[in-house]
Amino acid sequence: MNTTTLASTTRLNPVGRTLPVLLAMEDDAEDVGRLAPDDRLTCHVHGRWIHQCVASPLHVNPITRHRWCRSCATALTVSVDELSGDVTMSCPRCGHGESAASAKLIAACRASLAAARRHSGARAA
Ligand SMILES: [Zn+2]
Ligand SMILES: [Zn+2]
Repeated sequence: MNTTTLASTTRLNPVGRTLPVLLAMEDDAEDVGRLAPDDRLTCHVHGRWIHQCVASPLHVNPITRHRWCRSCATALTVSVDELSGDVTMSCPRCGHGESAASAKLIAACRASLAAARRHSGARAA
């Protein structure tokens, strides 16, 4: 049975949170060092779910290699499939460009997509 509740790896439970609520929660958690920026499902710059603004040039970082192909010095292209919930990134020049930072970003995008879908599904307007 897995009952691990390490504080350092605790991810805020996004289930049933609206975007503004989760955004504020993540801001607070990040401020007190409980949440790594890479693990956020929301973006404090754009005020959106991370998968909704990850295609913005602001989410490219050549230093940390978020969405960046070092070999080609090119930003990775993001593709978000809202239907399947899949998120992929690849370099438009070499077709690769993977990095640990981009892998984390992709994981966050998939989680934010799932959280946003769960919420909009419950609303069913
Ligand atoms: Zn953003
Ligand atoms: Zn490349």
